[in-house]
Amino acid sequence: MDDRVIENALLVCPHCSSDVTHVEHVFVSARKEDQLSNEITVNAISGRVETHNKEEAPIGSAVGHGRRQRIALGGYCELCGHRFALVITQHKGSTLVEWAEHEILPWNDEDHLDTVEDPF
Ligand SMILES: [Zn+2]
Repeated sequence: MDDRVIENALLVCPHCSSDVTHVEHVFVSARKEDQLSNEITVNAISGRVETHNKEEAPIGSAVGHGRRQRIALGGYCELCGHRFALVITQHKGSTLVEWAEHEILPWNDEDHLDTVEDPF
């Protein structure tokens, strides 16, 4: 696995290092230290926001669940098909950035768009 995240300002695939990547979801495990979390998912294409999910945001191996909030960007590599999550975990006064394996369904053109019609 490639530990790099960015090369030439492009997000690189942790599996094959290709820069042909797509990020379609944002996951937030929202919580104060040691409190219960609110697991939130944002579909960046459809605009759908789901809160209080049963499934946790992707978790990196270095910190695990940690004690505070976690944010992850979920996507896939167009070249090799690898699905990944870039996990950002607040931990002991620092912010840890790491890759995690995470199965995330890709955007489907038949999915409903949750957008507001232009009133004009
Ligand atoms: Zn790849």
